[in-house]
Amino acid sequence: MSQTLAELGEFGLIERLRADQENGGPVWIGPGDDAAVLSIDGRAVSALDQLVEGVHFRRDWSGPVEVGRKAVAVAVADIEAMGARPLAVLVGLAAPGDLPASWALDCLAGLRQECATASVQLIGGDVSAAERIHLAVTALGETRGQEPVQRSGATVGDLVALRGRLGWAAAGLVVLTRGFRSPRAAVQAHQCPTPPYGAGAEAAMFGATAMIDLSDGLLADLGHVARASGVGIDLDSRALGPGEPVRAVAQAIGRDPLEFVLSGGEDHALVATFPFGQVPQGWDVIGRVEAVGPLGPTVLVDGRAWSGPAGWTHF
Ligand SMILES: [Mg+2]
Repeated sequence: MSQTLAELGEFGLIERLRADQENGGPVWIGPGDDAAVLSIDGRAVSALDQLVEGVHFRRDWSGPVEVGRKAVAVAVADIEAMGARPLAVLVGLAAPGDLPASWALDCLAGLRQECATASVQLIGGDVSAAERIHLAVTALGETRGQEPVQRSGATVGDLVALRGRLGWAAAGLVVLTRGFRSPRAAVQAHQCPTPPYGAGAEAAMFGATAMIDLSDGLLADLGHVARASGVGIDLDSRALGPGEPVRAVAQAIGRDPLEFVLSGGEDHALVATFPFGQVPQGWDVIGRVEAVGPLGPTVLVDGRAWSGPAGWTHF
């Protein structure tokens, strides 16, 4: 019989978590003492995200490597969205004692894999028993002489620009919900987002006035920017060309692909506002910041309020 998490034990897993951790770079003291110590440049930026089994992921839809990767990706995306440079993550894992130890170890491998992709270090963590799997990741970053980019700085005349994918994760979730496994690229986007690592700090350097990562969908998240900044935002639908897998899924279920692009969450792309002429390469201009119109600080599409089909408010 294969080993369970209870048999591997809390300290067994923590030992694995500590293994191969190197000090160096910003990490003064890594895992193994009571707390890790970082040296940082500028202000410390921190964010926490949680993934709960049955709420944020299903074990039959996502493997342990993907769940581990996603937990790091969504937390680090929030550091990116502040215009900061991500440095390190701390991980809390709570799980049932009868969980196969291999699931926990593969999840740890996924956490490590995404840390390497995001160029951050895993500096500590904690393990506990729980009735279902619960993964919490705290991400830490530094501002390095830049001001943090908040949601409240969008200014009339700014351009709205996007770095990353729109609607892919939502299309993948629809596919899985209907019992299918393809298009594979959409399913993978649901299992683990691919935030544009490094783009957040780059946006800050180029003078981004506001920024957010897309967790709830383009309209919902830009709505936060519009309200925090007291502006209107007008998106150009022609600039929002849906990716191939999004078009394929939309066509298969008889929906407008624009619905996925505007309302689909969990892609963790970055969207930022830049003064005219300051949009960095690699970012696509998708709209502009305007004075608040009669509808208040809200997001319009081609100058009009977007009204998706009835009942299609979220995924
Ligand atoms: Mg966020």
